[in-house]
Amino acid sequence: MGAPGVVADVPFYRQRLGADGLPKPWTLADLRDYAGGASDPAAGRAPPGSRPALYVQLEGSEDVPVYLPLGPMELRGWARALAYAWRLWGVGAGDVVALYDYGSSPAVFLASGLYVPGLGRGAADLLRVTVVCNDGPASMAARMAEAVRCCRPRGIVLRADVARPLVSALAQAGVPAAEAGVAWAAVTTAEEAPSPHELAPLREALGVPVYRTWRADAALFLAPECPACSLFHVPRALYRLEELPEGVAVTAAFARDFPATRYLLEGAELAPPGCHADPRAWRLRP
Ligand SMILES: [Zn+2]
Repeated sequence: MGAPGVVADVPFYRQRLGADGLPKPWTLADLRDYAGGASDPAAGRAPPGSRPALYVQLEGSEDVPVYLPLGPMELRGWARALAYAWRLWGVGAGDVVALYDYGSSPAVFLASGLYVPGLGRGAADLLRVTVVCNDGPASMAARMAEAVRCCRPRGIVLRADVARPLVSALAQAGVPAAEAGVAWAAVTTAEEAPSPHELAPLREALGVPVYRTWRADAALFLAPECPACSLFHVPRALYRLEELPEGVAVTAAFARDFPATRYLLEGAELAPPGCHADPRAWRLRP
């Protein structure tokens, strides 16, 4: 895994460079400000002359749309983060993972090389698992229950806002998740992770463990809650973390063509590595 790209070539970072040559840590609000001010939907994240393989609109940027420019390097590194999450949740070759989210979510589009150009091998290809994907609206819950009944997924990854409709649909279809072979569910949200308290009803209704993901799509960041320690694991090979007074700054080490450097996870705290599930991983506490 090489060094992240040269930030001085990237307009968004160039205007944030400090005396130390590093860009000041930033958040989605900074990207929105840049995109609005410069009339650039990529918010200055695409180096001049670059040709992204894919643009993805960031959730939470509906008022001032912000698009994330991505090349094969970024897609492949980010897909490795998704594969890491699935592996931590016990997914292995031959399993099925069911997705209930929109195609603009990295929890979906990084899953298979068939979904987006430039990705090559998605998480399912890396782990040799089969993926079944349902579209994200709540009105599709009955179809998702049917997919669970037919495909017997080991895990279900779903948007937080379709948790309740899915629980009702499974009950209506007479498909108890655990009896259908489901070992876990994971809830994914575009920004901060939901609190464990919010997920308690879902855990109870499904009768299986429910894990959280911590995503910061603007930073190509995706970290899974660990079943063993309940903290969020961050693989060292993919991300660099810096402890700051206001939180933790994350840099995607794989983002060489479209750098994702020093995104601020506000309020996050770093916990020492040492979990038996992956002793080397960084660990984050929201
Ligand atoms: Zn752990």
